[in-house]
Amino acid sequence: MRNRSILLSVTAIACASGGGNSTPTLDAGTPSTLQGVSDRAMRIYRESYVVDAHNDMPSKMADDGYNADVRHRPGFGKQEGHTDLPRLMESGITGQFFSAFVDAPYALTSPDSSLERALQLADTIHAFAARHPDKLIFATTAADVRRAKESGKVAVLIGVEGGHAIENSLENLRELHRRGVRYMTLTWNNGNQWSGAAWGVNGTSTGGLTAFGRDVIREMNRLGILVDISHVSDSTFFDAIAASSQPVIASHSSARALHEHRRNMNDEQLRAVAKNGGVVNVNFYSAFIDTKFDAAVTAMEARLTSERESLRMKYAGDSNRVEAELRTLRTSASEALPGTPLSILVDHIDHIAKVAGVAHVGLGSDFDGVSALPEGMEDVTRLPRIAQALLDRGYSEDDVKKVLGGNMMRVMGQVLDRREAPDR
Ligand SMILES: [Zn+2]
Repeated sequence: MRNRSILLSVTAIACASGGGNSTPTLDAGTPSTLQGVSDRAMRIYRESYVVDAHNDMPSKMADDGYNADVRHRPGFGKQEGHTDLPRLMESGITGQFFSAFVDAPYALTSPDSSLERALQLADTIHAFAARHPDKLIFATTAADVRRAKESGKVAVLIGVEGGHAIENSLENLRELHRRGVRYMTLTWNNGNQWSGAAWGVNGTSTGGLTAFGRDVIREMNRLGILVDISHVSDSTFFDAIAASSQPVIASHSSARALHEHRRNMNDEQLRAVAKNGGVVNVNFYSAFIDTKFDAAVTAMEARLTSERESLRMKYAGDSNRVEAELRTLRTSASEALPGTPLSILVDHIDHIAKVAGVAHVGLGSDFDGVSALPEGMEDVTRLPRIAQALLDRGYSEDDVKKVLGGNMMRVMGQVLDRREAPDR
């Protein structure tokens, strides 16, 4: 589902007419007044290091003219979003990893421009932080994130999504590190020449790591770049765990035991991450966490595919008209999809906490990369609801803080701060 949605979103971005101005129409409650969140939950949330491991806003900024400096309505349209500066500040989040996402076509049709794309998005993220020195701090360590919290600012970090970004070169990996990248997803939905993906779109690898892939892991360990196993195949997952001398993360993956989906992690994998000392950051996307929603989306896509054929016949030779009509059909069909209760998202957190341990679960929203989110989690300002939901399930204050970001801070401290040194 993620694959299709992302490809659709890329299509939408390509069709965008530009223009980053949005209307400040959202009247979201600030965290202090967020509906259904108690004073106690809000206090715990505010005391926590809240770290979200995955957010795709930079692609919207670079491709869609999305102006992240102003407030937008929650949503997945060209000029709607789950994140922007006003809402980041309002959310009370401490650290946000923004994704420098390199789409599959870069590897498939123009592999020599994959690194350039990652660097372009890294620049977009740097520029966003630099425009707002009074509100944002660009961060590469857990210590930076602590400093951000002490000064009332939000820490901005970079993760690269798609190992093809390094174009099979360790020197390119070192360049990403120099540009401030602190995690890299070994693959996206496309496998690459050294690492297999869960999807393996366009016939790309779904196998394990090659010898060079193990060199990549070793170099990431040496530099201090977190190994991110979201999106990888099961065999690459186990190869990466075996090759890494450091804790790994899943920046945005949920539990396969609750929804059978290749992008989710099974219990054996969850236990392996626990043994490794890493963190699985739960993806919020409705199609990854909610079986009912996923089935409805699959049925909707099948209907739209057959509808496309009928429209092609009807409007022979006029593809613009076909696509315009399909967009209208998609919008109305999407609106009719069943909602995903917030409790389902919390079920995934709870499952990983039970199987791997509460020290090995965190948040990887995938905000601005997914088209559907649970009810009550429409954007970044709603994160305090997770604190409330965990308290409601009997989690201790300390455990809530671990899930919100304490676990990621531990791993970042181990992998990033320890390695912070001039590039060698
Ligand atoms: Zn992803």
